[in-house]
Amino acid sequence: MTGGTVESVLGPGDPAPFALFNAAGNSPFLIIGDHAGSAVPRPLQSLGLQPDDLRRHIAIDIGVLGLGRALAILLKAPFLHQVYSRLVIDCNRLPTRPDAIPEISDGTPIPGNRRLTERSRTARAAAIHGPYHAAIATLLDARHAAGEETILLSLHSFTPTLDGVTRPWDVGVLHVSGRNDFALGLRDALGERSELTVGDNEPYAMDETDYTVPFHAFARNLRYAEIEVRQDLIASPSGQKAWATHLAEAVRRAAGVLSMRDRSAQETLASGQESIRRGRA
Ligand SMILES: [Zn+2]
Repeated sequence: MTGGTVESVLGPGDPAPFALFNAAGNSPFLIIGDHAGSAVPRPLQSLGLQPDDLRRHIAIDIGVLGLGRALAILLKAPFLHQVYSRLVIDCNRLPTRPDAIPEISDGTPIPGNRRLTERSRTARAAAIHGPYHAAIATLLDARHAAGEETILLSLHSFTPTLDGVTRPWDVGVLHVSGRNDFALGLRDALGERSELTVGDNEPYAMDETDYTVPFHAFARNLRYAEIEVRQDLIASPSGQKAWATHLAEAVRRAAGVLSMRDRSAQETLASGQESIRRGRA
């Protein structure tokens, strides 16, 4: 179970380590899902876990696959996401960090990750982490070469309770404090809905444990936001659709980007208001 070559990690019939949905999306947005997948390569034998454990938050960001696809369609954006479980290797960690391949996750021992050799760890990184991040970099570079701006949206979901503590937020926007008007604008746009509790760098702050956004967005000076949605809100397709709609609207407002339909709706509204004013005068 702990082979040391790329071939010993991904077996024949195992899926490619990333998927690109709505590749033709040509808006400024690129949506990323580091933890959208729950697959385990066949040679790793489910990491010794039961199927139920592979459906839990320790293995996957619940709801992010459906949310990402719905948001990609609304924003006309590509959605590049991980296919394998974060328990195989966490693509939002530097691959050499011990917690990139955890031996225990939220109290659950992961038998297939116990006492891995350096060779096995490197092989997982080479089979999954490397190709995923190379795909993101290739897409970003191609867009840059074509003169297109990219605003990176990194989607995650969080568990409603952790260590017995209930988390009060519906959604959180993660960013490096004070450096990112887009993320702050998104936080404010989401916060305008009074029924929502919006976390500012909650339930997590963006810090040195994050890999994807710093590695890709900081180096290229891209606008970005890491978005965390509470998983029970997006567990069902209807929740995913509703949250994709909220997020698309807030993201567009934060970016100052309006689609043609929004623009014409606004013009109609503006001319309507103009005629009301004229009528009153
Ligand atoms: Zn995540």
